Amino acid sequence: MKRRILCALLTLILCACALSGCKEQPELREFTTFAMDTAINFTFYCEDGSRTGQAYTTMANGLSDLDSLLSVTGEDSDVSRVNRSAGQPVEVGDWAALALSQALELCAVTDGALDITAYPAVKAWGFTQEEHRVPSEEELAELAAKIDYSAVKLKGNTITLPEGMEIDLGAVAKGFAGDWLAQQVRNIYPGKDSALLDLGQSTIVAVGSKPGGKPWRIGIVDPARPGSYFAVVELEDMAMGTSGGYQRYFERDGVTYWHILDPDTAAPARSGLSSVTVVSPSALLCDGLSTALFVMGLEEGTAFWENHPELEFEAVFVTEDGEIYRTAGLEGRFFLAEGYEDREVTVLE
Ligand code: AMP
Ligand code: MG
Repeated sequence: MKRRILCALLTLILCACALSGCKEQPELREFTTFAMDTAINFTFYCEDGSRTGQAYTTMANGLSDLDSLLSVTGEDSDVSRVNRSAGQPVEVGDWAALALSQALELCAVTDGALDITAYPAVKAWGFTQEEHRVPSEEELAELAAKIDYSAVKLKGNTITLPEGMEIDLGAVAKGFAGDWLAQQVRNIYPGKDSALLDLGQSTIVAVGSKPGGKPWRIGIVDPARPGSYFAVVELEDMAMGTSGGYQRYFERDGVTYWHILDPDTAAPARSGLSSVTVVSPSALLCDGLSTALFVMGLEEGTAFWENHPELEFEAVFVTEDGEIYRTAGLEGRFFLAEGYEDREVTVLE
């Protein structure tokens, strides 16, 4: 008799739990996939774990599709078809058209510090094939003369690129993917979203906050010691992107050449910065602007931040001398990491 009562009680508890949606502690689930030449990690805190597998599959498949459409090296990608177009109009899919229009807007607003037509120069330095070389001054002048995003014409899904020019979305693709992935999390877990999407090589999107309402805490790499973080930024429904010379580079005759090029010279941008981090609700903006601000340098980059409040971004600059500058809007969200507490941080107002 006692056993029967106990069984009935247990069934009652299980039913109540199922009906209430089983409100246990949110569960931590982590997944890794490989796309855009890097390992991409998703961390979810979810109340309904049953939907996490579905969320992950949707996101990983979408990411793989995005990668194959936007990749500059994939033969069948939309970007490669545009690059082989020899001046003829090319019809691209919706994703490529959207990514291109957003990238071109950023090229325009940064006055060409970001320029998606820098690809022939990126190739000439051997960054695409990882077969590095230093082009001659003459070659660089010729390459620089052909970098001009304003010559790219996009009408609906039709893109026309002048012959001899090539495009590359490498400076914004991870950000574009990050925004799309974050939207998937919000669609699947409306109102309960809590996820961290780490797109590798320094593009990260925080969806919601951690369970209990605490923000995600994300480190910024010390460009002088890429194995350490010099600062932590607290993020909630916010993305962060870092561009730095330490991320991809080669050395020749004692000189370091990195992968971020100045479109004016077609050579690695020597702006006196070693990294730029951008914090904003848009991952695409973080990705594109961190590259552009690296090209601009501290002074021009600060003026850009002051003159573009509508872009709603904050930034952290690290100079080649190791000086740290951050914009005022990061007050209460930016902290020096352990071991870096004595470093001076100049606040840009
Ligand atoms: P990121 O790592 O996001 O800063 O982007 C750098 C990548 O974008 C490089 O590996 C190049 O493929 C490409 N790139 C380099 N310089 C520029 C530039 N000034 N504008 C646009 N893309 C660039
Ligand atoms: Mg970028």
